[in-house]
Amino acid sequence: DSAAGPVDLVILGGGSGGYATALRAAELGLTVSLIEKDKLGGTCLHRGCIPTKALLHAAEIADNIHESGNFGILSTLEGIDIAKVNSYKDSVVSKLYRGLTGLVNTRGIELVEGYGRLVSPTSVAVGDRIITGRHVVLATGSQSKSLPGLEVDHHQVITSDDALRLDRVPASAVVLGAGAIGCEFASVWRSFGAEVTIVEALPHLVPLEEESSSKLLERAFRRRGIKQHLGARFAGVKTTDEGVTVTLEDGTTIEAELLLVAVGRGPVSEGLGYEEVGIATDRGYVLVDHQLRTNVPTVSAIGDLRPGLQLAHVGFAEGIFLAESLAGLNPPPINYDNIPRVTYSHPEVASVGLTSAAAAQRYGDVVTQTYDLAGNGKAQILQTAGAVTLVAVPDGPVVGVHIVGDRVGELIAEAQLITSWEALPAEVAQLIHPHPTLSESIGEAHLALAGKPLHSH
Ligand code: FAD
Repeated sequence: DSAAGPVDLVILGGGSGGYATALRAAELGLTVSLIEKDKLGGTCLHRGCIPTKALLHAAEIADNIHESGNFGILSTLEGIDIAKVNSYKDSVVSKLYRGLTGLVNTRGIELVEGYGRLVSPTSVAVGDRIITGRHVVLATGSQSKSLPGLEVDHHQVITSDDALRLDRVPASAVVLGAGAIGCEFASVWRSFGAEVTIVEALPHLVPLEEESSSKLLERAFRRRGIKQHLGARFAGVKTTDEGVTVTLEDGTTIEAELLLVAVGRGPVSEGLGYEEVGIATDRGYVLVDHQLRTNVPTVSAIGDLRPGLQLAHVGFAEGIFLAESLAGLNPPPINYDNIPRVTYSHPEVASVGLTSAAAAQRYGDVVTQTYDLAGNGKAQILQTAGAVTLVAVPDGPVVGVHIVGDRVGELIAEAQLITSWEALPAEVAQLIHPHPTLSESIGEAHLALAGKPLHSH
């Protein structure tokens, strides 16, 4: 309040970015007001990372039952009790939500519940109250986008928010968009028994990933019976009482119970006063410099709201960076080249650093090395197909690591050390990986790249 004097930091939005800023700033002794209109934790906790990964874990259990015969264990899947699946998912979210609320309270952060609007370079209005700070952080996040002319009715044409609230497994679904979110829902619904068709305008699934990773995922999904229309343009959708008919530009029609629109997410900034206060934006995204400052010196922006990768761990890192820099600690800049990315489908796709195409653009010449998980003992025990692909500068460091296979999301943190520390292939080849683990495949790929392959050609 103006009566109480300004706080050090007013944060608009309590998602991954906003709450991470608040937690770190409070730890450093700054006074913080954190404004949230909905629930502390934002998209990631309530409608993103956590509930989708809970569904994927339940889906993995269903897959294990389906595939149990391959291991000599005889069991049959009697059905999916989706109400129970949802209550498990919701209980995970609630537990983390309680933990987060507790943290925010114990650090002395003032949580202001309500819809905030920026009204000056140093203040946010929430209802009748004006909260003033020496610095303002915009962290209002993102929401699902659609295509021009494609209307989401939240019933038959749905977003990921709606998909997480479904009280049934759809008999069939069309998933429009094959990024992480589209592929994860396709994977879950297929595991739960749905007929799933993915439509993607670009030529590959997970089109931002290394092409060899995309192709492995395409093959794995085909084997699982997930249909794919790649390089296919959506033309329109008709809804009837029975479901949806999706038409592609080449005339193909696909019938299904529902259509999930997963074509990306756009910024939440409309009507929030940003432009009025003079903040530079681009199609609603708030523009920032490498210090995360907007063109208005007292205002910063972080997370999905600024152009760039939309990932929870990036929001966390930006929040920590910003809090430390506002507290005068001069933190090292965030290295956006080395952010791990994981699609948690069955199988998973994980990567860090540059694709071979991006590396070729930057360095001219690159070498790549692929190690097939067929040579990895643990992968054979788990019966998972996949590969590790390394991208390196000739006679230089490894600049990209790309992995496909079950559970490989857990491997990418080691790969991150390799790319961040600009390790040479021979240096990583020196490291002894435990046998038999999936992590060995990272060691083996580097042995091969260093010219001394062990379990590969
Ligand atoms: P958000 O989390 O969107 O938070 C913004 C907050 O601001 C919200 O709580 C909102 O209510 C609040 N707010 C907005 N406007 C106002 C206002 N006017 N007044 C008050 N409060 C306001 N990322 C990963 O890293 N890993 C994953 O596995 C992953 N899976 C995902 C799965 C799905 C289905 C989705 C949709 C996203 C996923 N993400 C994942 C992305 C991740 O959720 C986001 O990158 C992250 O939540 C961004 O954090 P943020 O703080 O920028 O925004």
